[in-house]
Amino acid sequence: MEKVKCLIIGSGPAGFTAAIYAARADMHPVLYTGIQPGGQLTTTNEVDNFPGYPEGIPGPQLMEDLQQQAKRFDTDVRMGIVTKVSLSERPFHVIVDDGTELLAETLIIATGATARYLGLSSEHQYKGRGVSACATCDGFFYRGQDVAVVGGGDTAAEEATYLSKMCRKVYLIHRRNELRASKAMQHRVLNTKNLEVIWDHVPVEILGDSKGVNGVLAEHVKTGIRQKLDIQGFFVAIGHTPNTDLFTGQLKLDQNRYIITEPDSTKTSVEGVFACGDVQDHVFRQAITAAGTGCMAALEAERFLASLES
Ligand code: FAD
Ligand code: NAP
Repeated sequence: MEKVKCLIIGSGPAGFTAAIYAARADMHPVLYTGIQPGGQLTTTNEVDNFPGYPEGIPGPQLMEDLQQQAKRFDTDVRMGIVTKVSLSERPFHVIVDDGTELLAETLIIATGATARYLGLSSEHQYKGRGVSACATCDGFFYRGQDVAVVGGGDTAAEEATYLSKMCRKVYLIHRRNELRASKAMQHRVLNTKNLEVIWDHVPVEILGDSKGVNGVLAEHVKTGIRQKLDIQGFFVAIGHTPNTDLFTGQLKLDQNRYIITEPDSTKTSVEGVFACGDVQDHVFRQAITAAGTGCMAALEAERFLASLES
């Protein structure tokens, strides 16, 4: 069976950054890309906040650059989905969907998280053309315009208040008559002048034309009466699902199924297994923070192996 010093699962900013560091430390990393080579950023056209690109960069290009950088130092990048890991003993036994089996001395998990969407066909149609799941990433493009956020949790409240600072008007569409968000966040939402909560409504259709989104049709959950809101940006904030199914019962996960890592570290509950990026971060969820923790994971994996040798 193939033996590897460092196996990286995931090809987003966390995975490729871990690969760059692990490869430069002569760990000869093998990286599996998964079903979405390049990760979440491949679904966005403009990344304006990743350092080093003064004019911004399309997400797919940024991820191609990261991949090339990882390959320059001899990362073995492979297409394939990891279907099973066994973390009960080291080296860790890993199975890939093409049948490959490996034994990994260290494992870096960078499987990310997936934003939940409402599932409307119009939402899919306008993804990247007015529909977004990340206000910190895309809010800037709607400066001075009117936008809507859907959701009632902390993420929705945070995104709505963030957007209220740059947009003319923000609608927060929530399906109930009270927010799930913390009291402090609720207070902020309800006391922001240009932020209006549309209670007891669900979006039923995103409206638009060739230029992108220009409205949303929201339906009252009890009466069925619909109202049209004129907006240019529609932000979905109904939660994320961390991609942790593979690790259920093997690693400590929090109540929302994110991998728990030690403070100031990427160490998980199993020695030799490190987690980086969105799969362990429900707070920041940015490419640069994912890359930062990817760097940490590789450094920690290298130190772990060195500690075994000394
Ligand atoms: P991801 O990018 O989610 O990558 C996860 C990787 O794991 C994927 O390659 C996937 O194929 C792989 N994987 C999962 N399961 C398996 C498996 N079983 N086997 C093998 N591989 C697996 N952030 C910014 O900083 N700026 C922005 O402008 C910005 N814009 C965004 C726009 C959109 C539309 C979205 C959705 C997100 C945006 N973000 C932005 C957030 C950013 O994309 C994420 O924070 C970042 O991609 C997280 O990186 P990651 O490496 O942790 O995971
Ligand atoms: P969340 O707490 O699960 O909230 C999701 C929200 O979306 C809920 O209000 C839910 O409505 C709504 N929703 C879900 N599916 C929907 C659908 N199909 N249609 C319409 N609305 C839908 O998710 P989150 O806000 O992302 O927060 C996740 C975790 O991270 C929480 O523990 C949160 O406290 C934490 N977090 C903390 C901070 C912070 O402390 N600064 C910031 C962000 C997140 P219902 O309320 O009716 O269920």
